[in-house]
Amino acid sequence: MNYNKKTVLDVDVHGKKVLLRCDFNVPQDKATGAITSDKRIVAALPTIRYLLENGAAVIACSHLGKPSATFEAYAKKQAEKGKEAKREDWEKSLKQLSLAPVAVRLSELLGQEVLFANDVVGEDAQAKAKALQPGQILLLENTRFEKGETKNDPELSRQLAALGELFVSDAFGSVHRAHASTVGVAAYLPAVSGFLVAKELEVMGKALDDPRRPFVSVLGGAKVGDKIGVISNLLDRADTIIIGGGMAYTFLAAQGGNIGKSLCENDRLDFAREMLAKAKEKGVQLLLPTDTVAAAEFSADAAPVVVESMNIGDDLMGMDIGPKTTQTFCDAVVGAGTVVWNGPMGVFEFPAFAKGTEAMAKAMAESGAVTIVGGGDSAAAVEQLGFADQMTHISTGGGASLEFLEGKELPGVACLQDR
Ligand code: ADP
Ligand code: MG
Repeated sequence: MNYNKKTVLDVDVHGKKVLLRCDFNVPQDKATGAITSDKRIVAALPTIRYLLENGAAVIACSHLGKPSATFEAYAKKQAEKGKEAKREDWEKSLKQLSLAPVAVRLSELLGQEVLFANDVVGEDAQAKAKALQPGQILLLENTRFEKGETKNDPELSRQLAALGELFVSDAFGSVHRAHASTVGVAAYLPAVSGFLVAKELEVMGKALDDPRRPFVSVLGGAKVGDKIGVISNLLDRADTIIIGGGMAYTFLAAQGGNIGKSLCENDRLDFAREMLAKAKEKGVQLLLPTDTVAAAEFSADAAPVVVESMNIGDDLMGMDIGPKTTQTFCDAVVGAGTVVWNGPMGVFEFPAFAKGTEAMAKAMAESGAVTIVGGGDSAAAVEQLGFADQMTHISTGGGASLEFLEGKELPGVACLQDR
């Protein structure tokens, strides 16, 4: 399936007021509120620059974090934690999730002024949007300050849409959510995608539907339960499936292995057996760890011991793939045409147990294959280990990329105009 949605290149943006949904949900320092990574802002620049250079006036919007839009909602959340709610604390929590610092950073990156509205669809937003000239950019306050946002409220959608004449969706990290600013507005404005959304879907869509073969999919991470959809969808498409990380132990247990204290999801043993049988039936090669780096406890300074994966021992837990397994997995990747990776091979946050994940990243980087990394922790691992520049594509949307790999329709894409 080719990406069949209109993009900003398919419409005339000149002289138009464009409502642009970005993903400015940046990580912040808990104590100071400072932006700790501006990757998401940088990722939005190509579409913003294109619109500004082509005579559009840009009204950008995004959510940031999970604010309680009303004091009542805040009080309810506090009550669940057994805490009393104070109005001033609620107001403070909103201030911490203001997009104002994003406007400052965006302005530095763009090299031009970024106007800021201190509301989403209120008087300030309306007045500033109305006065906005071609080539200027305005950022609205956090869309989740409006309680209708996460409910995909038609009235909020209409008010947002009334600020512009064209809707551009470029928040890939949010397209799996049907909210007012991601889906609702498309009912009231012509809607197309920006470059980021188009690139994500083109690259990942091609890998899933028309991959250069052999197509190897590398799966890992903590839980089988989180990845049921991803495993079954990729099993229908890949030539080889590699399973490492915490989820491998459920597969080993399903075949009668003694996995000791390793992660095991007893309610997924049947699913694991089903997948093993399906792979066999379809002629898909399914690789599991044969050796494991184990430890007596889940901690950074636990002593690593290499053991057989089917016989880990009662007092040990699997923390990373072993050296033999690493070699086998990497050999499969080196010969691949396409590699889609989701889920670290071990507890990469602890350096002693990051070797398998690092070797996998290196093998992918050196493979010459089309290499795609999806999933929040996987992207973080590849970046932390220094291989980010050498991958074909690292998805900017954790949850959205997983839903795409599951083969689900993304509501924030389905609502855009077809080509
Ligand atoms: P993603 O966000 O890329 O989809 P996941 O959230 O599924 O990935 O998994 C990431 C987590 O899996 C990491 O925090 C990592 O420590 C954990 N993990 C990997 N291997 C193991 C293991 N053997 N035991 C426990 N946790 C593991
Ligand atoms: Mg994760």
